[in-house]
Amino acid sequence: MINLSKRIPTSDVQKIKIGSEVIVAGWVEQSKLLGKLAFLKLRDREGYVQVVATSNYSKMKDLNSISRESVVSIRGRVKKSKARSGGKELELIELNLLSKAATPLPIEFLGNKIETDLSKRLDYRYIDLRHPQRLAIFKIRAIILSAIHSFMRESKFIEIQTSKLSGAGAEGGAELFELPYFGKKVALNQSQQLYKQLIMLSGFERAYEIGTSYRAEKSHTHRHLTEFWQLDVELSFINGIEDIMRLQERLLVYILRQVKKEGKSELELLGKEITVPKLPFPRINYSDACNLLKVKSNTDIGTELERKLAKIIKSKFKTDSFFLTNFPDDFTKFYAKHDENIGRYVDLIYNSNEISSGGQREHNYDILIQQIKDKGLRPKDFEFYTTPFKYGAPPHGGFGMGIDRLVTFILDLPNIREGVLFPRDVDRIGP
Ligand code: ATP
Ligand code: MG
Repeated sequence: MINLSKRIPTSDVQKIKIGSEVIVAGWVEQSKLLGKLAFLKLRDREGYVQVVATSNYSKMKDLNSISRESVVSIRGRVKKSKARSGGKELELIELNLLSKAATPLPIEFLGNKIETDLSKRLDYRYIDLRHPQRLAIFKIRAIILSAIHSFMRESKFIEIQTSKLSGAGAEGGAELFELPYFGKKVALNQSQQLYKQLIMLSGFERAYEIGTSYRAEKSHTHRHLTEFWQLDVELSFINGIEDIMRLQERLLVYILRQVKKEGKSELELLGKEITVPKLPFPRINYSDACNLLKVKSNTDIGTELERKLAKIIKSKFKTDSFFLTNFPDDFTKFYAKHDENIGRYVDLIYNSNEISSGGQREHNYDILIQQIKDKGLRPKDFEFYTTPFKYGAPPHGGFGMGIDRLVTFILDLPNIREGVLFPRDVDRIGP
């Protein structure tokens, strides 16, 4: 048996001296017999290596029976490749068939002339993800997450984990997923909003969480899922939304720089170049945005108008990243701090799409109660949220950034589902 603990990644073969023996393992992407030679194209996480069997290899016939996508281990000798100048390949010495793949494959995922449609690809996601470009997306996603953790730690934020089950929703009742809970009803969290604020009241001063949120939104768009990952950030003792914007723009630039630095080969594979925007990002007042868009000042700037605005900002400021600030009352939540009828709100638009929303929160108990009433809600229903504000609350604010959206729009993916391993939407709850 070939000793798997001695295995090296296929990409390392190129660094190994000609004549050395190595062990590799992976999926057989292609196999063909050409005259007296047999060729296997072996793929693993790091890339490919070509394996050639010559007449020295006695079990040539067995190679014929290896189906595409079977998993094998291979002991081979490094030699100069005839096909690739300067490249190396392996001459086959020994092969173990570790798992034979059934034929035909349920989907074609490589080299097919007609792309398999996304829904079918997601049905067989475990095969779809074998495509090196799909893997590259998730390698970049991991770089993004690691960059977020480094940035937040360097900026003195404490990482927190909060409950995903609660008795009420902070983002609006209609979009809750309710579950039975020992004879009562609970809901999956729509955001970490309440908890991250409670933590500010507890004196953590700066905290962040990366976790899932759930929204029963019946939307079939390129940027909505029912389960999504969110970076939630909250900080205390702020003067206003400027503090929140400064933090966010530095975070985005930090992430993009890290992706550019650590994700070079993945970006190349995906054919994507990253432009790191200049600081500071433009700050566009909501009413100015409406003027630029030539719409009434209290128009809801949804997906389409966001795109249009991004175009205008791009031509005016030569950037893909900007903040939309100071939202009219109609579009704010009860917990936002207001100046008259303008909410201290801020959205970050990147690559023509909203990737985060945030703002300063109202920390004064009496005003909070008044705002609940002003929104036509019943203070009694929000006691879980408001009572803690009776006992000492610092001025604070923060933002929630969609991780899946970040991945999608950094990489220019056509659909948010491409950037999530096992996406959940109105029609999909598996695999
Ligand atoms: P949108 O207007 O695009 O529906 P939203 O304003 O309802 O988003 P927020 O409540 O502001 O969303 O959530 C903060 C961030 O979380 C958003 O900016 C986005 O990046 C992400 N997000 C929100 N809802 C979803 C969703 N259904 N699927 C994926 N990401 C989401
Ligand atoms: Mg929003």
